[in-house]
Amino acid sequence: MQALSSYVLDRWQEGRAPFTTLSNPVTGEALATASSNGLDLGAALAHARAHGGPALRAMTFVQRGALLEGLAKAIHSARDELLELSIANTGVTRSDAKFDIDGGTATLTSYATLAKSLGERRFLLDGELEQLGRSPRFAGRHVRMPLHGVAIHINAFNFPIWGLAEKLACAFLAGMPVLSKPATSTALPTVRAVRAMVDSGLLPAGSFSLLTGSAGTLLEQVSAQDVIAFTGSADTGLKIRSHPRVAAESVRVNIEADSLNAVVVAPDVEAGSETYELFLRELVREMTQKSGQKCTATRRVILPEALLEPVITALGERLLPEFAPRNPVEEHVRMGALAATAQGADVLAKAGLVLTAADVVVGALPTEATTLFPPVVLRARDVRASVLHEVEVFGPLVTLFPAASSTEAWELVRLGGGTLVSTVYTDDLGTSLEALEALGPFTGRLLFGSARIAEFSTGPGLVLPQMAHGGPGRAGGGLELGGVRGLGFYLQTVAVQGARPILEKMFG
Ligand code: NAP
Repeated sequence: MQALSSYVLDRWQEGRAPFTTLSNPVTGEALATASSNGLDLGAALAHARAHGGPALRAMTFVQRGALLEGLAKAIHSARDELLELSIANTGVTRSDAKFDIDGGTATLTSYATLAKSLGERRFLLDGELEQLGRSPRFAGRHVRMPLHGVAIHINAFNFPIWGLAEKLACAFLAGMPVLSKPATSTALPTVRAVRAMVDSGLLPAGSFSLLTGSAGTLLEQVSAQDVIAFTGSADTGLKIRSHPRVAAESVRVNIEADSLNAVVVAPDVEAGSETYELFLRELVREMTQKSGQKCTATRRVILPEALLEPVITALGERLLPEFAPRNPVEEHVRMGALAATAQGADVLAKAGLVLTAADVVVGALPTEATTLFPPVVLRARDVRASVLHEVEVFGPLVTLFPAASSTEAWELVRLGGGTLVSTVYTDDLGTSLEALEALGPFTGRLLFGSARIAEFSTGPGLVLPQMAHGGPGRAGGGLELGGVRGLGFYLQTVAVQGARPILEKMFG
């Protein structure tokens, strides 16, 4: 069995026992072992700060963009192998594996393109030169400089390639070296992708480290110029945010956590209309793509009472038996497995909590923990029950909530305490404006699904590099991507004040 290594201090290094075993979630076959025990993480961070940081900061945006482009190509060159590893280690279908791998390389490429527009500079300018006093000679301008520490990226199990790539794209373009830590259970594809990056010979010394295995003492080694971008559960996010060393050093932390993403079908949408069909199509995709294991997958659907029965009937017809979960290595599989045995138990336990306030209306819950978890639709008995708005079931489950008015619909969405994405299906401008006012402050992304974009809509679940990803409250309060906005986390805004002629020469 393969022992996965970490890439630290510019070389591959194996950890010591005890090891964690990575398995195939469908067959249980042991695939690899991983351990970070015994690695000198303090030395790894010091090396990245001393060598990787200066190398990246010496590069212009255009040069950093070329690096991202090269890394995207390197990962793409290993695509076939990555597909097989993803299917084996994470239980996804081939099409879902492509979603992760191609999404990762597309994000790197998108940032490579953005880099060209940022030019031959090494830091960002923010706003214009402003006169600060009575004389025009005294002026000021904001600039955004890359921090001198390490960008520590801690990722969740569900996107082993995209998670690596989307964070890397922003940090490298901003000019910071990266230490990336994938979730241990699905690290096999990540390690292969990093091998492709390393073998490309493009990575400047110290610019990239991979920690395979648990975070160990990593957080005890951080210092004030480092940043931590975390994706995962709210519980772990809280542990990281409140870690004494992180707090004492005021280390910036970006958290992408749980989210009970909501969909509202507005009262103007009629059964059978184009907008209604768009809603159904996108809901089925959100429930079944990656078996509902996307942070942006729809968890709650709020709809007019009159649509409840038609929607239950339509979902029954479309989900069963088409999306019965199967081993993704079989032919014509539409939905694969949950990513790890532990997830099977977790999803069943959380579904049990939701069942205290909702009834199953499509499908049936399995009687025991399984990674081959079927799609299940529930209907809320008590639409305001907190368990339905607070417990994230990370699988192919969704709960329907009848609402008497759009005002009640907004109220129900807000009970989720902050979402990564909320979607409103409507063709009505007034309802769209109402939704923006009512939901804007409570969500990171607001998608209006309407007949006009039915052909082009990418749905709520797809995170696009040009649009911000992250949401308030329960969703963690973070912000990633969003074009140049995603670089902000890695930059220090400096208000530079001085003599105008000097500032003009400095900043062009
Ligand atoms: P998790 O258990 O919180 O683990 C996430 C990552 O944190 C893993 O790499 C894990 O490493 C690491 N970790 C665990 N304890 C740690 C500690 N004390 N210090 C530092 N790192 C630590 O979450 P998960 O089960 O992998 O992911 C599922 C959750 O992620 C879901 O709730 C989902 O909503 C959320 N998620 C959010 C987004 C988003 O963009 N907002 C995206 C995807 C997933 P090990 O694997 O080695 O334990």
